[in-house]
Amino acid sequence: MHRLKILVTAGAVAVAVAVISFTLSRVLTVRQTETSARAAESELITGTLSSRQTALQLEPLTASAPTPPVVSAPRATVPESPILNSTSRPPCGNPDALGVSRVVEIDTAGGPGFGFEQFKAYDFLGEREVVLTFDDGPWPGNTLAVLKALADQCTKALFFPIGKHAMWHPELLKQVAAAGHTVGSHTWSHVDLSKLPVEQAKEEFEKGASAVRAALGTSEASFFRFPGLRSPPEMLTYLGTRNVGIFSTDMDSFDFKIRKAEQVVASVMTKLKKRGKGIVLLHDFQHPTALALPELLAQLKAGGYKIVQVRSKDPVTTLPEYDAAITKEFGIGAASTRSIANVVRTVSE
Ligand SMILES: [Zn+2]
Repeated sequence: MHRLKILVTAGAVAVAVAVISFTLSRVLTVRQTETSARAAESELITGTLSSRQTALQLEPLTASAPTPPVVSAPRATVPESPILNSTSRPPCGNPDALGVSRVVEIDTAGGPGFGFEQFKAYDFLGEREVVLTFDDGPWPGNTLAVLKALADQCTKALFFPIGKHAMWHPELLKQVAAAGHTVGSHTWSHVDLSKLPVEQAKEEFEKGASAVRAALGTSEASFFRFPGLRSPPEMLTYLGTRNVGIFSTDMDSFDFKIRKAEQVVASVMTKLKKRGKGIVLLHDFQHPTALALPELLAQLKAGGYKIVQVRSKDPVTTLPEYDAAITKEFGIGAASTRSIANVVRTVSE
């Protein structure tokens, strides 16, 4: 009897060990797949930057659902940037809109990190709360379709544009900011910073942030996302000294690998159901994502999810030498966006 008990116990232990090692190997496999997928994404974008044709050849999007915007978002505690004040936004005319349930302000001093894939210290989302993030824009067609879908649902997101894209299409990025979305940065040319010498990696960050500033004529949020989520420790330290908040993700949609809109929706909703909340990584650069967004937002609303908008307490502080380099390269800068009344005034007649 005693021996039987030992055998049964030993059997149970063996089964448990097998289950644990299977689960562990699955987790590790998923991790490896995600890492290599992101490396592929990084290369895809870098390739695109050298041949702009690839994404430009995407078919134009057909316009989606109508209905203009209202935001029920509590904005009181967060000062709006000048570009937001300068643009009048129509109120939301959609009473069933997803909207914004709350706006959070982040003090980026010391470079805090967010998104459980890499940073566990600050879990600021409650049950069913979602932060929508869009990377790699701005891009013709796709970014405007994303903006329209968000406006139709009177909701707000966080954008991480690539510096070069911002310089090629500053008018698109201006529309992102004018619609009241939060804009961070995502390097100058979307290279994997873990493969660069640290000085070049710093330049990639600085030039990307200066490009966003030049495109918008004002400094935006002090938020950054690493291409492919590859974050070398030296850069984490550096961004800490620059007081830049770092965004990883709670769930990656892997939309850059998906060719069909409905699969983008399914990818996000499945992961959200599992986690119950989170910072969601999407790409306004990707055509299927732009097509998927109206349905994705509708499903978020139907599923009882609530959108949280994230803002930074202080704008990013760009470095003058990089602002100057961008101005020199593209012939634009903050000065060119000042109104005539601020530049020229009559002092005597
Ligand atoms: Zn990216």
